[in-house]
Amino acid sequence: MAGEPQTDCLFCKIVTGDIPATIVRESATTVAFRDINPQAPSHVLVIPKAHYPDAASLAAGDPQAAADVLREAGLVAADEKLTETGYRIVLNTGAGAGQTVFHAHAHVLGGRGMQWPPG
Ligand code: IMP
Repeated sequence: MAGEPQTDCLFCKIVTGDIPATIVRESATTVAFRDINPQAPSHVLVIPKAHYPDAASLAAGDPQAAADVLREAGLVAADEKLTETGYRIVLNTGAGAGQTVFHAHAHVLGGRGMQWPPG
């Protein structure tokens, strides 16, 4: 069923604590933790606790949780002191766009200059 935990999902296991992570924020519906392979001085992932494979399916299935992910991403950026310099929120969607973990997540990246267009 949509939103139910998946036994083979890495990020569901981070939600349950079965896989360790450096958690920086948590809300009723979300968890934020440091990316294991950071691409910027600050690189935090914000995920819904419910399992949806990507951001679009999260927004369709649980719009409030999608809004919560974006709110928490902004709060992470503030915690990381990125609001003055700017930061990037990335929602890779589909393998062709670089998505490797199929549990919805927002990357919050900052602490260095950003290029546009992204690679
Ligand atoms: P994607 O490529 O947009 O799907 O992002 C997945 C992200 O998860 C990548 O940036 C990985 O470095 C990160 N990642 C994978 N495994 C772990 C982990 O166990 N802890 C924290 N981050 C992870």
